[in-house]
Amino acid sequence: MCYKRYLLKGETVSKSFAEELEILKARGLHRKMRRIAGSQGSRVVVDGKDSLLLCSNNYLGLAGHPRLAEAAISAVERYGTSSGASRLVSGNMELHALLEERIARFKGTGAALVFNSGYAANSGIIPALAGKGDMVFSDRLNHASIVDGCLLSRATMVRYPHNDIAALRRLLERHQTAGRRLIVTDGVFSMDGDLARLRELVELKREFGALLMVDDAHGTGVLGATGRGSAEVQGVLESVDIHMGTLGKALGSFGAYAAASEEIVDYLANHARSFIFSTSLPPAVLAASLAAIDLIDSPEGAALRQQLDRNTVFFREGLSAAGFDTMGSETQIVPLFVGGAEQTMAFTARLLEEGVFAQGIRPPTVPAGTCRLRCTLMATHTEDDLAGALERMARIGRELEVV
Ligand code: PMP
Repeated sequence: MCYKRYLLKGETVSKSFAEELEILKARGLHRKMRRIAGSQGSRVVVDGKDSLLLCSNNYLGLAGHPRLAEAAISAVERYGTSSGASRLVSGNMELHALLEERIARFKGTGAALVFNSGYAANSGIIPALAGKGDMVFSDRLNHASIVDGCLLSRATMVRYPHNDIAALRRLLERHQTAGRRLIVTDGVFSMDGDLARLRELVELKREFGALLMVDDAHGTGVLGATGRGSAEVQGVLESVDIHMGTLGKALGSFGAYAAASEEIVDYLANHARSFIFSTSLPPAVLAASLAAIDLIDSPEGAALRQQLDRNTVFFREGLSAAGFDTMGSETQIVPLFVGGAEQTMAFTARLLEEGVFAQGIRPPTVPAGTCRLRCTLMATHTEDDLAGALERMARIGRELEVV
């Protein structure tokens, strides 16, 4: 994967870092981090300005929940600050085992394995399951960590057009192999907010004898009556072979997991290099994750999910009524299509001046010409918060001729 998509066709890679940084700036693609003061909530102080936060994955507000904080603090008191080693050496603490048992129960699988992040999970799981002689069929809009996992695997990577089941069928027919075939998809597409068509993918994987892996980074804790994610919404929880999910988004903690059969989990623990060769997650993070799953499973979790749903519908309908294109969003991730990089970043900057933080997304994260504000809702936003943001977005959208 080339991270230099900002270079034009035929343009050679420059000799100096400074020159390339200048090109990035000239093309409106230079990225700069904004500093957030204080803790993560639905309002934050961004570069010194109090703002409504509309671009966090802390969908349920659990990153600021006292029960997670208490769990983390008592874990530090009891177990210290670090695991001290990788899992297969001496870093397998009892909290790792407890969390994995809890995740397996949550997802209804035989076992689970915790990874240090979603990026580490995808870049470890895929090369563990597929190698030379195998094939990975990957949705064109899958997250970068899946793409990197495919590239690391040395399996043949076949990218299919986004959510195009007929095209995937043709590719499965065309690309036969004596080795394994793995279909991998985001459950919720992270930049578009639409859902993978899991029921049809399950049918295909059965017909073609493939494995199905779903990255539910953005569905976990949020979607489905009990927060089991995009596979629960589509009634296929038991038919997915490898459920990957993250703990740092709706769950308000950090890390990720693969939930699968005991056999696959054992296989991953023996083959996934990002699992084997890295110091394991520290006790505070594990304890916060355990507390988060308990919360997701409680009436409070259900109430937070319902509030998030209401906020999502209110906001998405408000954007549509103002004439914005929300790009087929079906979830709490609601993109607002702008198009060009400079116009997108001007939109973000104008909104921030007015106290709304909605990050603009540009290449290489999304294809050129499809820059957008990626708005994300939280259960802890109030209707007043969202109505105020919608009014500002409509006004600035007209000012910048986005609508
Ligand atoms: N998969 C998807 C779909 C994601 O959106 C992300 C994070 N943005 C990841 C994986 C990586 O997860 P993490 O942030 O825990 O590394």
